[in-house]
Amino acid sequence: MSQRKMQMIERLRRENVRLTRQREIICAMFADHPDQHFTADALWRAFYPEDAVGLATIYRTLSVFEDVGLIKRIDIGDGIARYELADEQAMPHCHLICMTCGRVQEIDGSGMEAALKNVRTREFVVRDQTIVFHGYCSECRENERETKARGKGEIEGGGQDAKG
Ligand SMILES: [Zn+2]
Ligand SMILES: [Zn+2]
Repeated sequence: MSQRKMQMIERLRRENVRLTRQREIICAMFADHPDQHFTADALWRAFYPEDAVGLATIYRTLSVFEDVGLIKRIDIGDGIARYELADEQAMPHCHLICMTCGRVQEIDGSGMEAALKNVRTREFVVRDQTIVFHGYCSECRENERETKARGKGEIEGGGQDAKG
């Protein structure tokens, strides 16, 4: 068992959360993929084919884990909740969200320290922070370039964009 998973389970014990097999598996998922941003659906699918678990169980588990501060919910504005490990020692990070493929990438957010310092001068206590950049990832931009290049070859001097 990884150190991280052990710490997570220890935390659940301290918070008197009953450790079921499903909860242990979900712990392992987060522990083994500390840089992932899981949707409930992705976790649910990860259980198959060995275990049949209801989606409701996954939601319930995520909500319990969030309550005890094991994971945190990230809202990236598409209406789908994603969850990542709430690692207190982790450096602050920012999320890059691709508006085409939905891929979530993390970048180092140590530059946010200055902003956080400013926040503290207001005696404001930060409980949570999510910095999200919306845009297009390099792969999707590459695909788009290729599609455009191909289109140009097929219809030389193609029609004007209809506006209005
Ligand atoms: Zn993309
Ligand atoms: Zn993240």
